[in-house]
Amino acid sequence: MNYHILTLFPEMVMQGLSTSIIGRAVDKGFLSIEAINIRDYTKEKHGHVDDAPYGGGAGMVMQPAPVCDSYEALCQKLGRRPRVLYMTPQGRVFNQKIAEELAQEEDLVFLCGHYEGIDERALERIVTDYLSVGDYVLTGGELPAMVMIDCISRLVPGVLGNDGSAEIESFHDNLLEYPQYTRPEIYEGMQVPEVLLSGHHKNIETWRRQQSIERTLKRRPDLLEDANLTKKEREYLDRLRKNESEND
Ligand code: SAM
Repeated sequence: MNYHILTLFPEMVMQGLSTSIIGRAVDKGFLSIEAINIRDYTKEKHGHVDDAPYGGGAGMVMQPAPVCDSYEALCQKLGRRPRVLYMTPQGRVFNQKIAEELAQEEDLVFLCGHYEGIDERALERIVTDYLSVGDYVLTGGELPAMVMIDCISRLVPGVLGNDGSAEIESFHDNLLEYPQYTRPEIYEGMQVPEVLLSGHHKNIETWRRQQSIERTLKRRPDLLEDANLTKKEREYLDRLRKNESEND
């Protein structure tokens, strides 16, 4: 997977993505990350990339030419026109399903806005996807791009040492992950659940699925609408719901 980040703050994204698992995956060649400075593509004498909005109003707007030119230079270098994801609070809210779909691409371009955003004509010309990290407004698209790159990268083969570990986490089958425990067996009088010490893999798997269902019902019941459950698990969920309504 090759990421290309169009930004006015290249050092911010490169520093943020150079440590831990993502940094190691870059070193090992599973990922490549380049930050392209939009400012390098301005033709203005003083290096300006923004101007006041037509029609008036607060703040500055990023001009279309440096944004489009930085993308066109990248396309020329690559010999193809990769998808351009514009980071915007007006986009589809990013989630694990979108990450799974994007992880299939060979190249992804992240376009980071700043100030009041980017001139609409540049967006119309180059953007293929409008994506948000949530219903709140940040100062720039750099943090959203880093969040999405981190999430997508975990799904790229080789990035996580153990390839299975991304498969059974929260949002797999639209369920939250079960509770996790490690040593010591007893901490401050609190015992690790007996079944996890039993060595009985089938029972452990059943317990974990049930815990996932229970936790999702408590914390994110909206996810259960599309959860991938067996007939037995549906019955378990019905029992939990029945108990819940009896205790209300
Ligand atoms: N004026 C814009 C609006 O109301 O839609 C908001 C501009 S915001 C201050 C500056 C930049 O931050 C945006 O162009 C976008 O790239 C990024 N941004 C802010 N909030 C975001 C969010 N929730 N998700 C993704 N990007 C966001």
